[in-house]
Amino acid sequence: MPAPARESFPDAPAPLDEAAGKRVWVYPKRPEGRLYRRRMGVAAVLLTLLLGAPFGRVDGHPLFLLDVFERKFVLFGFPFFPQDIHLFGLAMITFFVFIILFTVVFGRVWCGWACPQTIFMEMVFRPIEYLIEGDANRQKALDKAPWTAAKIARKGSKHLLFGLISFGIAHTAMAYLVGVDELLRIVTHSPADHRAGFVGLLTFTGVFYLVFARLRELVCTVICPYGRLQSVLITRETILVAYDYLRGEPRGKRRKAHKKASAGNACPGSCAGCTAMHLHAEKPGTAADAVVPARPLALDDLLRQGDCVDCKLCVQVCPMGIDIRNGLQMECIHCTACIDACNGVMDKIGKPRGLIRFDSQQGIAEKKPLKLNARIVAYSVVLLGLLGLMGFLTVSRGQLETSVLRVPGMLYQEQPGGRVSNLYNVRLLNKTNQPLPLQLRLEGTPGTVEVVGGNVVVAAGATAEVVCFIALPKGAIRKAKTPLQLGVYHGSEKLETVTTNFLGPVQ
Ligand code: SF4
Ligand code: SF4
Repeated sequence: MPAPARESFPDAPAPLDEAAGKRVWVYPKRPEGRLYRRRMGVAAVLLTLLLGAPFGRVDGHPLFLLDVFERKFVLFGFPFFPQDIHLFGLAMITFFVFIILFTVVFGRVWCGWACPQTIFMEMVFRPIEYLIEGDANRQKALDKAPWTAAKIARKGSKHLLFGLISFGIAHTAMAYLVGVDELLRIVTHSPADHRAGFVGLLTFTGVFYLVFARLRELVCTVICPYGRLQSVLITRETILVAYDYLRGEPRGKRRKAHKKASAGNACPGSCAGCTAMHLHAEKPGTAADAVVPARPLALDDLLRQGDCVDCKLCVQVCPMGIDIRNGLQMECIHCTACIDACNGVMDKIGKPRGLIRFDSQQGIAEKKPLKLNARIVAYSVVLLGLLGLMGFLTVSRGQLETSVLRVPGMLYQEQPGGRVSNLYNVRLLNKTNQPLPLQLRLEGTPGTVEVVGGNVVVAAGATAEVVCFIALPKGAIRKAKTPLQLGVYHGSEKLETVTTNFLGPVQ
């Protein structure tokens, strides 16, 4: 059986009143069911991580910090510096490849289950809305009702709570950007002392409030670039939240009526089953032979009843305001609310669950159960490989970055005892969370290294610049520019070896 015919394909994001050119406000029914409970569990874990990460500490240092202003970045307790730009580039490539592969295989699961926008919207703001304004129908009624004291109290308390929560999320965002210590300074001092921080907090609060109180699903359909990318990333084998049209169509509860209509060759005009089957019929109620089917119909077709009872519960719970039975749509964020709703209906009417389920378009069309195929396994292995590579490069990243340059404009100096010295600038970047006492030693060449000012201690995450003399016995100088290797030691542990040149009279 072919996919249900569509009268038109959407060329504008739903829900939109195309005639009026206006957005249609979505009132999703409160979801419930097994997948929703699982989503709540996942959301609880992710929210804890998201809200707690910038406040976490490792040895007194932040667990996460994305301070773009001071160019300080800490991920999982590992500090990163502008010098780690190659890692950043690799991370970006990994990120994009990961997104593409993940989406090609698993569709938009991220959007429905892990995206902070969805988690906050569906697991924080929406439940508060249900609590204060009731389920979808009561919300609709309240919006239509005149402005009474009770309505003002409900709406006011909801928006006040939304504002407070947005204010809280804004603090977390600031903690990521400027660090917890700076955030504490901002909130414990007068705004006049921290104008930029204060404006940042208010701006974030306003943006979050706007997103969760007004924009909502528009973020996923219009603003988020990832959402817009779906159409080019999803293939027929991609795992989606999909309606099994082969099983569900013809939809409706009208079997008896159709029996009557077929047997008596007269349309009762009340069932509209033909419309639901996309067969028809401009004017229900005309004689059955006046009905113009979209394809030749056998009597069996008319008698056959799909499993979809057209209760529209799947549409009512959809936070994006779409009907999943219309097939793959850009708006679907794979939140699985429609799966739960439909499974509940299937339980009630004694049909197997899974009329709406995770499956691929190919799987539905060919009636093949979803199973791990070579492509999914291969892509998943590549994904894991990329993550592993990133993890390895991060963990095995050097603790130190050293550059050694001869002081410009200076030649060599003759020293007593038949030695020659050169003067060098040494720049040491400590990439760890601990201060590093360091020593410089010549490797493989006889000679001495003398740091001006004595011992070198580089503070955690800081850069130190020191000047040092390297002296070689004249007998060790065989070229005008003798290549040297300089070891940088922390105690007995060699952290890095750097190369430089030594100028001197050739013997
Ligand atoms: S919830 Fe299931 S049965 Fe009800 S309209 Fe949607 S697909 Fe059909
Ligand atoms: S169609 Fe289903 S999975 Fe997609 S957004 Fe709507 S409720 Fe969620």
